[in-house]
Order: sequence, then C-alpha cells, then structure tokens
Amino acid sequence: MAGAEEPAGRQSELEPVVSLVDVLEEDEELENEACAVLGGSDSEKCSYSQGSVKRQALYACSTCTPEGEEPAGICLACSYECHGSHKLFELYTKRNFRCDCGNSKFKNLECKLFPDKAKINSGNKYNANFFGLYCVCKRPYPDPEDEIPDEMIQCIVCEDWFHGRHLGAIPPESGDFQEMVCQACMKRCPFLWAYAAQLAVTKVTTEDDGLVLNVDGVGDQEVITTENGAHQDNALGEDVPENRKTIVKEVKAEQTDEPCTSSSSESDLQKAFQNQHFNTESQSGCKLQELKAKQFIKKDSATYWPLNWRSKLCTCKDCMKMYGDLDVLFLTDEYDTVLAYENKGKVDQAADRRDPLMDTLSSMSRVQQVELICEYNDLKTELKDYLKRFADEGTVVKREDIQQFFEEFQSKKRRRVDGMQYYCS
Ligand SMILES: [Zn+2]
Ligand SMILES: [Zn+2]
Ligand SMILES: [Zn+2]
Ligand SMILES: [Zn+2]
Ligand SMILES: [Zn+2]
Ligand SMILES: [Zn+2]
Repeated sequence: MAGAEEPAGRQSELEPVVSLVDVLEEDEELENEACAVLGGSDSEKCSYSQGSVKRQALYACSTCTPEGEEPAGICLACSYECHGSHKLFELYTKRNFRCDCGNSKFKNLECKLFPDKAKINSGNKYNANFFGLYCVCKRPYPDPEDEIPDEMIQCIVCEDWFHGRHLGAIPPESGDFQEMVCQACMKRCPFLWAYAAQLAVTKVTTEDDGLVLNVDGVGDQEVITTENGAHQDNALGEDVPENRKTIVKEVKAEQTDEPCTSSSSESDLQKAFQNQHFNTESQSGCKLQELKAKQFIKKDSATYWPLNWRSKLCTCKDCMKMYGDLDVLFLTDEYDTVLAYENKGKVDQAADRRDPLMDTLSSMSRVQQVELICEYNDLKTELKDYLKRFADEGTVVKREDIQQFFEEFQSKKRRRVDGMQYYCS
C-alpha cells in the first residue's frame, strides 16, 4: 500500500486511486513472476517418470554432488523432498532433462520419491552451472567479488547464463529483445547470422549505398558480400530495411501484429494453422538459401532476438536436417521457449484457482451478467470515492479499511436487493 502514502492534497482526484491499483497490479506481477519458474513443474512428484522433460525447473545439490564430482541435476519435487536441508543451486529452467536424484551420481542418497532410476541419464547435458558457475568467466551468481552491476542473460541454445558485459555486444534494453544466443553458440550455428541481418535486435547501420553493413563495435567482423547488391526483396517478403531503426520498427510491428506463438492458451487449431503457414512458406524454396544470397555480416558476438523470431526460421527438409546435426532442433519448436513454459505455469495455476468473477459470469444468463457488471461498476465508483477520502485526508489506506469498505458495500447491496430496486450508475 506504499503508493497511497504520499500526501494527497495537491494531487488530482484520480491519482491516489490509480496508485493503489498500481500497487495491487505490481503485487500480482511479482506473484506471477515467482510462479513462472516453478509453475510448469510438479512440486510433489519426481519428474523422472516423465522421461526427458521438455522444460522444467532444475536444481543442483552441492552437498551431494560438489565440484569435482560428477555433475547432477534434480527436479523441483526432489529438491524439496530429498535435498530439503542441502545446499542447492537454482538452475532456473533447462530443456530435455531427466531427474538424476539418487542415481549412480549420488553416493549416499536414495531418492524418496522415485528410487528406481537407471544408473545414468545419457540424454542429459551438463555444464558448469551444475556447480554454481556461470558465463564464460565461470563465476558464481551472485558473485561476492563482482561489484559491477550487470544482469545475467540466459543463452537459449546452450542455456548457460552470461554477464551482459561478456557477450561481445552490449545487450539492448531488456524489453527490446526476447531471446539471446551467446557468442559461442553463434559460432557453432553460423547459419543464424543470415537471419540476424534481417531479424536480430542489433545495432546495424548501412553506410554509403547500403553495400557495407556495419555493426556496432568494429572489429572481428566479416562482411559476406553478394553479387546482387543489397537492395532487393528479402526472403521475408519485405524490403531490405535501410537502417537499423527500420529493422527495429519492423520487428516491433511484427510483434504486435502476430499472435504470440508461445502462448500456451492457443488452441490446437491455431497451432495447426501456423504449421500450415510454415509449410506453404517453405514450399516456395529455402528461406535460408535466399537469405544467404544477400549481404550479411558475421561477427564474434552474441545476438539478440525479438519475440516470435523462431517462427521465421526455414523448416525445409535441408534446414531441418541441419538443425538436427547442430542439435538445435528445438529452435523450431514454439513450445521450447522459456516464455511458453512460464505461460504454461500461469495457465496451470489459473486453472487451479480460477477467477471467481469470470467463473460466475460464464455461468450466468445475459440479464444476470448485465446486473453483475452494473454492480461491479457501482463497486468501482464507490471504492474510488472511498479511497478518495483517504487521499484527501492524506492518510494511508490499510487492509482493514478495505475490508470495512467491502463489508459496508455488501450490506448496502443487501438493502438494495431487499427493496427490489437496482441502481446502475
Ligand atoms: Zn526427481
Ligand atoms: Zn543433496
Ligand atoms: Zn529424489
Ligand atoms: Zn561473465
Ligand atoms: Zn550459448
Ligand atoms: Zn531451408
């Protein structure tokens, strides 16, 4: 309720109300965020029986498997049940992992939830994160010796975390990109540079006739030239943007125009439609080959990508084979993204505790719905007036005050209904 603390005498009428709403909304946001990582994971059953889980919250136990031993990862439920008092590293989420709890990597521990595991999970991939070390600099997080404030960003390919300053290219504002591919992964998957020229949220400017693309932070760059020159239609059916601003604008426009492919609330029908969309696009030829025929640059840096960029990747037979060879087939899977996982968590939880207002509304007739909405509007108006009193007096709104308001509102409503009268303001 901190937002209501400001002296309100000089404020315009609506401000105190808005700030309270802001506070409530922020609360919800924080709650959503906290739920997001855990949301898609089961907190009671070991995930082992599900095999290699597409994406789950993972932990490493430095009590059971300290540095120098074999790395191992454990599921959310096991982190509570089998390692409750141990020192755990939170690994956020990782893809295609099967819980190791109690298998041959653990010398003195039996899993309480699913003891019958195979000796090892050969499909699991491990890195220094499993010993609590991150980035190319292999430091812990938080790092007591690091005084430079810097955010850690997860690479969507290798899933390691990186300091913003150790990526070879300064990250854009965090709201301006959705996913990042680290330096090493860009080197390993050079085909992404052809897409980066069109899609990536990176500072790209054209010099002269647009013949030489120049990326910020000169050095280590390689210009791939083309016989056709730069001014031609690109494979995405748009004109080649003249400068970086255009690229960013177009990317942003796409974000709003297109449905969010990662939203898990989408119907299968929609999904089927999107797949069909892909197929018709790739039938006309390989998007990657078209992009490669154009000018693009390779440099030694990470790249930053907007929402839904993965849906632009070519899915022709050759490209799919290449993704398989490079072990990045997940790039074409819209449900692989952390965003999709988080949304799934939110949807699952929403299903657990549905919004009572919406539930009630959907079970009502039209007339009842209108009445309820009128009542809701009454409530809003009265609450606004009620809160304004506090603002005028410059006092803080407390939980009890809100409770009292609802009690009064309820009794007023009862009186109205008893009198067979209904006001709708
Ligand atoms: Zn487990
Ligand atoms: Zn442990
Ligand atoms: Zn366990
Ligand atoms: Zn680093
Ligand atoms: Zn990477
Ligand atoms: Zn292709």
